[in-house]
Amino acid sequence: MTATLIDGKAFAANLRERLAGEVAKMQAEHGVTPGLAVVLVGDDAASAVYVRNKGEQATAAGMHSVTHRLPAETNEADLIALVQTLNADPAIHGILVQLPLPKGLNPDRVIAAIDPDKDVDGLHVINAGRLSAGLPALTSCTPVGCMLLLKDRLGDLSGMRAVMVGRSNLMGKPMAQLLLAANCTVTIAHSRSKDLSSICREADILVVAVGQPEMVRGDWIKPGAVVLDVGMNRVPSKDPVKAAAGGTRLVGDVAFEEAAQGASAITPVPGGVGPMTIACLLRNTLEACARLHGLPTPVL
Ligand code: NDP
Repeated sequence: MTATLIDGKAFAANLRERLAGEVAKMQAEHGVTPGLAVVLVGDDAASAVYVRNKGEQATAAGMHSVTHRLPAETNEADLIALVQTLNADPAIHGILVQLPLPKGLNPDRVIAAIDPDKDVDGLHVINAGRLSAGLPALTSCTPVGCMLLLKDRLGDLSGMRAVMVGRSNLMGKPMAQLLLAANCTVTIAHSRSKDLSSICREADILVVAVGQPEMVRGDWIKPGAVVLDVGMNRVPSKDPVKAAAGGTRLVGDVAFEEAAQGASAITPVPGGVGPMTIACLLRNTLEACARLHGLPTPVL
């Protein structure tokens, strides 16, 4: 392996520490405590773990943290009524409705009900529009985390060729906008793109979020590129005995060992981009709180 590892776990731990400092400062100087409300509908096991981690990390950073757990059979009107109550609650500055929602609940309508100024997941169309117009916007947490890692590694990104593989509203589109705002020349690739490997080989910065285990191979990487692997895929354990017993392991969308031969820096899975997501959710909550109270936004 020739690439340097980008340690998102350590970066996120440091970011959370700095956030806790800013939260304490905000409380001491302005008597304001940032508040995060997370809404979980149903009993999806993975979502329950994410929600618990979000609540615990918000509390650890000194924030006011509330989790609403609703049954899977909750109807949309009741869910939207809860969102509206949180919109009106002055102790809450960030609202996140954990996705995916159970069948029968329309995520677009639920997200549209969130006050855009409290939309710390950055999914409201107002925030997507503000981002693409170059206006201050709450922006999806994982792309924000990716940008922090890239700027830490590369400094000024101006003029670099960036390729974003994946075009979801949660990841690919906001990431492409952030890269563009940082003056990269950006290509967005997706499942209908032709000759994806050649597109990837043009990238000084390659960000992959497709949900396809180890799809991006080593010979797709331009020598010296910086590679951020957003994918989180469960595949059978390498150990056949464990695999037979249902054992799994987590892999990214990039074939790590191969890609690390040519890249100058790469995020591992786990421990790369993943830990940045919750840290950036807390960062967004602090930012939303500062804006809602007319306070300067802490630079983190
Ligand atoms: P989506 O399923 O919403 O989007 C996947 C995107 O990848 C689509 O734009 C799709 O193209 C594209 N795609 C799928 N297959 C291919 C292919 N063979 N070639 C090229 N493009 C392809 O997923 P998300 O963006 O939400 O997430 C992507 C991955 O990132 C997942 O593994 C997810 O778990 C992970 N993730 C991790 C996070 C973290 O915190 N680390 C946060 C968010 C996501 P098209 O639009 O044409 O269908």
